[in-house]
Amino acid sequence: MDLTTNPYFHPAGPAAGDDDKFHDECGVFGVWNHADAAALVALGLHALQHRGQEASGIVARAAPGVFNTHRGLGLVGDIFGDAKVMAGLPGRAACGHNRYATTGETALRNVQPLYADFEFGGFAVGHNGNLTNAKVLRQALVKRGCLFQSSTDTEVFIHLIAISLYTNVIDRLIDALKQVQGAYSLVALHDGALIGARDPLGVRPLVLGSMPNAGGAPSWILASETCALDIVGAEFVRDIEPGEVVIIDDNGLRSQKPFGRVPSRFCIFEYIYFARPDSVVEGTGVYASRKLIGAELARESHVDADVVVPVPDSGVPAAMGYASECGVPFELGIIRNHYVGRTFIEPTDQIRHLGVKLKHSANRATLEGKRVILVDDSIVRGTTSRKIVEMVRHAGAAEVHMRISSPPTTHSCFYGIDTPSRRQLLASHNDVAEMAALIGVDSLAFISLDGLYRALGQGGRNNAQPQFCDACFTGDYAIPLTDWPAEAARAEPALLPGR
Ligand code: SF4
Repeated sequence: MDLTTNPYFHPAGPAAGDDDKFHDECGVFGVWNHADAAALVALGLHALQHRGQEASGIVARAAPGVFNTHRGLGLVGDIFGDAKVMAGLPGRAACGHNRYATTGETALRNVQPLYADFEFGGFAVGHNGNLTNAKVLRQALVKRGCLFQSSTDTEVFIHLIAISLYTNVIDRLIDALKQVQGAYSLVALHDGALIGARDPLGVRPLVLGSMPNAGGAPSWILASETCALDIVGAEFVRDIEPGEVVIIDDNGLRSQKPFGRVPSRFCIFEYIYFARPDSVVEGTGVYASRKLIGAELARESHVDADVVVPVPDSGVPAAMGYASECGVPFELGIIRNHYVGRTFIEPTDQIRHLGVKLKHSANRATLEGKRVILVDDSIVRGTTSRKIVEMVRHAGAAEVHMRISSPPTTHSCFYGIDTPSRRQLLASHNDVAEMAALIGVDSLAFISLDGLYRALGQGGRNNAQPQFCDACFTGDYAIPLTDWPAEAARAEPALLPGR
């Protein structure tokens, strides 16, 4: 089948700036009891830049009842690189957020942390994840007279807290959490405490860290990933548990578990692609996990070849694991240019076609005359894969075999990851042989679902009670899709492993 005649293939390529990957939407970071709280938050957000590149914000508590805020569109270094900006964020407690828009247009009013003045004082909240009943809740809240200032799902937390009949701010927040559905890892700040909360299934990550203070109480950190603790020199303490609310104040840390205990469903894609390789998520090192996934992929689908070549950067650890398992040399056959600004990708078809070449170039010296195994982490629309395969062939590869360290991505994510609609996902309407033809490879194989679970230390997928969220590979949505009834009706039970 020709790409241009396939109704699900978009020859114009993805939207400007999109590199044909799923995108994590947000990173959160909070600090309690540190003299340079906002500076630490800025550093933490910098380490979490991979979780959101469109906007960032920091709210800092300068004194009882006094909060200062700075938000901007762009990268963390551009927004908080100015000493005057940081000087305007004094105080010993602060929270911050990186945003990659998934709900609400990219506009300053949607940049988090959101802040509101309540009768109990100021309250700021940053959210990683996506609520699946936010539209329904919003309609009900608007009918009750709530005036929304943004179009982001996160604002429902603010209004649910505002109308709660509880008097204590923590009880009000928990009251709000009990009404929302979806995935959330929250970092919130009010006059008396820094608060962290994770949804009952623990879909998105959230970790706790601390730093000693000579002769005094420690500084506490909440962050999306451990790589953000490392950058500020904090020690990892533990993961915030699924369904846990932690309250950090001048008396230390206390924990509440307001929801009934349910088996967790952490996002399996965090291991494959989203989390930074130097992070440890849910007790497992991401870099090591990716190598193990690559090794399992080799055991499942190895083919005779001369070199194993990663699609950089995200395919590198899996390719290393693959090469080591099958004993084929690992070579950097594709070089990535890290200095391509997003603004360079102009929204014209002609320039979009150039996009892949701007970002990747083939290293002819390692490809010419070789049988190449290309390893990547996922195929979303397939546009980038096809162009990279073309590039590798143009550089003289004798054969190109593609191996993917995730199962076919057949479904959209509604839990905090920016994904195309299902009809745009190449694997949703093509089997593996059709995808191989569309991408132009001699062979194509994906890791099986059970193989992925095995690589992550499980015996395989427990179909009766899956250990992770894997809905984008299976259609098995563990959290109701209340705002998307049509998608919910089409959601499928698990597809065949290894499809
Ligand atoms: S649907 Fe996929 S990307 Fe979304 S939370 Fe589940 S595993 Fe992660």
